[in-house]
Amino acid sequence: MTGTIAPSSTRRGLHVITWGCQMNVYDSARMSDVLRPLGYQPVDLPDAADMIILNTCHIRDKAAEKVFSELGRLRLIKEARAAEGQPTVIAVAGCVAQAEGQEILRRAPYVDIVLGPQTYHRLPEMVARAARAGGAVIDTDFPAEQKFDFLPDTEAPQTPGNLTSFLTIQEGCDKFCSFCVVPYTRGAESSRRVASVLAEARRMAQSGVRDITLLGQNVNAYHGEGENGEIWDLPRLAYALAEIPGLSRIRYMTSHPRDMTDALIDAHRDLPQLMPFLHLPVQAGSDRVLTAMNRGHTADEYREIVRKLRAVRPDLALSSDFIVGHPGETDEDFEATMQLVRDVKFALAYSFKYSQRPGTPAAGAPLQVPEHVKDTRLQALQALLREQQDEFNATLVGKTFPVLFTGEGRKPGQITGRSPWLQPVHVLGPRHLIGQELSVKITERLTNSLSGELVEETEYA
Ligand code: SAM
Ligand code: SF4
Repeated sequence: MTGTIAPSSTRRGLHVITWGCQMNVYDSARMSDVLRPLGYQPVDLPDAADMIILNTCHIRDKAAEKVFSELGRLRLIKEARAAEGQPTVIAVAGCVAQAEGQEILRRAPYVDIVLGPQTYHRLPEMVARAARAGGAVIDTDFPAEQKFDFLPDTEAPQTPGNLTSFLTIQEGCDKFCSFCVVPYTRGAESSRRVASVLAEARRMAQSGVRDITLLGQNVNAYHGEGENGEIWDLPRLAYALAEIPGLSRIRYMTSHPRDMTDALIDAHRDLPQLMPFLHLPVQAGSDRVLTAMNRGHTADEYREIVRKLRAVRPDLALSSDFIVGHPGETDEDFEATMQLVRDVKFALAYSFKYSQRPGTPAAGAPLQVPEHVKDTRLQALQALLREQQDEFNATLVGKTFPVLFTGEGRKPGQITGRSPWLQPVHVLGPRHLIGQELSVKITERLTNSLSGELVEETEYA
C-alpha cells in the first residue's frame, strides 16, 4: 500500500482547508509535501484547485454537520469547473473522515477520497486509485507501518524565511478521557523514532527555523525508539534537540499532567532553550469531576506539578484547557474549578462547554448539565481567565526579554516578533533584524499584543 508513484511534471493546483488543532496544521503541510512530486502546488482559491483537501476536526460540536455544509460549497465549485472541462478531486481528511468515513461517501457522493489521520502518506496512491477507478477511495485504517517512515523530507517548514515550525513527534492517545474522541479517531498512542525527529529538526534548523514546537496529542508521553532500540522519553529528546545549533527555542504541546515527570521538570531547569510557557490542560478543578473524566490525577496533584515547575523556572507561565458542564458537574464542582484557576493563575486558557461526542463514555452518562447552566459557568470562567491573561500581560510591561523577530509589522517602520510566552511584540526597527532574537523592553500592553523598544541591536545569546 505504500509503493512509489511516478513523479509528474504536470503542474496542478492544490487547495487545503484546515480546521482544528496544530497537529492538523502540521498534517496539512505534510499532505502537501507528499503530493508535490505529483505536480501539486498550493493555490489560494479553491476555484483554481485541481484537488481540494478538507482536513477536519471532530473534537467538539456539530463537527460532521460543518463538514457537510462546507462540502456543499465545494460541490458547487467542482460542478462549475467540470462544466469548463476541468476535473476536481475532493478529499476529506482528518478526524471527521476517520469517524464518519462511509457516511461522508453516502451523503456526499461527489467526494473522491476519504482518509484518516494515520494514512496520509498513502495519499498519492489514493489519488491514482481514484483516477483509475473513477469512484471514491476510502482509507481509514490504523496501519501497522509508521506513516513518518513513508513520508518524504519535510519541505514546507524548510521554506526560507520560516523561523518557527511545528514538528509532530507523537500521535494518538491511550488515556480514554470520558469526553474525548481522540483515542477513537487518532488511534493508539505511538511515538516517532528518535532519528527521524532529530533529522527533521536539523533540517529545519539548517533552513533557518529557530523556534520549534514539538507536537503530540500527549506529547509528554513520548517514548520513541532510539538507534539501539533504547526508548527515549521527552526530556532525553529535549536535551538532544537543545544541542542542535540554531534551535534557540523549544516548546512542546499538548502535555498531560500525568506524564509531567520530575525528569521533564528538571529539563526546564537545565535547558534555557525550553521556553517558559507550558500548555498543561487540567480540564476541571474538582476531584469528583476529574475522576469522572478519567484524568488520573487530583486537583492538588496538578497544583503540586505547577509548584515544582515554578520552583525551577520562576518565569514559567501556564496555559490550559477547561471543560465546563461535564456530566454530573455541580455548582460546587464548578466552584472548585474557579478556585483552582485563582490558585494557579493562567497566562492563557481555552475553555469549552462540554459537548457530547458519540461513542465516548460521557456521551451516554446520566446527569447531563443543561445548556443554560453550561453557558453561565463558561461566562464566569472566561471572565476570570481573561482577567488573569490581562494581569499576566501587564506584568510584562517594563520588563526586558528576548524577542524573535519574524516579520514586518502593520505600521511603517515596524517589525514584529514573538515573546518567549508567544505574545506578538511590535517595535520600531529596520527590516534586516527579522530573523534575529533581540532584547526588547516592553513599554505598552495592547489588546492582543505588546509593544516595546529595542534595547540593543546585538543578538540575544
Ligand atoms: N490531550 C490533551 C489533554 O489531555 O488535555 C487534549 C487534546 S483535545 C484535542 C483539546 C481540548 O479539547 C481538550 O483539552 C478539551 O478541553 C477539549 N475537548 C475535548 N473533547 C471535548 C468535548 N467533548 N467537549 C468539550 N471540549 C472538549
Ligand atoms: Fe483526549 Fe487528551 Fe484525554 Fe487523550 S489525554 S483522551 S487526547 S483529552
